[in-house]
Amino acid sequence: SLKGKTAVITGSNSGIGLGIAWELARAGADVVLNSFTDREEDHALADEIARETGVYARYIKADMSKGDDCRALIESAGTCDILVNNAGIQHVAPIDEFPVDKWDAIIAINMNSAFHTTAAALPMMRKAGWGRVVNIASAHGLTASPYKAAYVAAKHGVVGMTKTVALETAQEPITCNAICPGYVLTPLVEAQIPNTMEKYDMGREEVIKQVMLERQPSKEFATVEQLGGTCVFLCSDAAAQITGTTISVDGGWTAL
Ligand code: NAD
Repeated sequence: SLKGKTAVITGSNSGIGLGIAWELARAGADVVLNSFTDREEDHALADEIARETGVYARYIKADMSKGDDCRALIESAGTCDILVNNAGIQHVAPIDEFPVDKWDAIIAINMNSAFHTTAAALPMMRKAGWGRVVNIASAHGLTASPYKAAYVAAKHGVVGMTKTVALETAQEPITCNAICPGYVLTPLVEAQIPNTMEKYDMGREEVIKQVMLERQPSKEFATVEQLGGTCVFLCSDAAAQITGTTISVDGGWTAL
């Protein structure tokens, strides 16, 4: 059980981050939700997790595109035994047309934020004598697709940082790993299905298997619960010697 541990999950008011927060809370960890929005609904999500699982859950606003905010998130949490770097955005364009502001935002949110939060959290983990850093990279941390230069660069960067942090903490009871999801069924992805059905004049199943999951051999989406379960495993004693590596949850994408 993760009872008594505090987990900070960046970008966790929706999708994978929220799914991971739920599974960590079900495993007994207190959780800190985060986004840059600070809406009533964001705080309500934390209340719901606390009510359903009995853990202590709260929401802290911080903009992961800003280094100072990233560090302030960890400081405000007060303690951070489990750090899940999950916040991320995407923009798709050929590299010679890639908007500079989008490039900068993707590198900042998807990669630099993990540098700042990890730097702030490691001293807390050392003080507590236990720690887990789990970076949510992507199949695009291991392979590329056209038009995703910033995202692929940032996710490869996160995988590299994961290995470095693992080496720097290798002789301590701290591990650092990256989870590399393939296509995950999040509300964002679900919302794209009707439009894609119309665009290709296909049924739901056809669109999912032939268009969206073209590169995912299983032809099934990964789920946020499965990613949460993978994260809980990385926090378990069974995973204490797993460090500096990637775990793909991608239905075979990177085996192709
Ligand atoms: P999502 O859009 O549902 O979630 C992204 C989260 O990041 C949200 O909670 C959002 O509030 C937060 N966020 C965005 N910008 C932020 C900022 N500046 N400051 C703080 N929070 C911010 O998307 P998701 O699919 O759940 O993605 C989560 C992570 O998983 C991302 O890093 C993404 O790259 C990665 N991923 C997703 C998939 C997929 O198929 N959905 C596949 C591989 C990797």
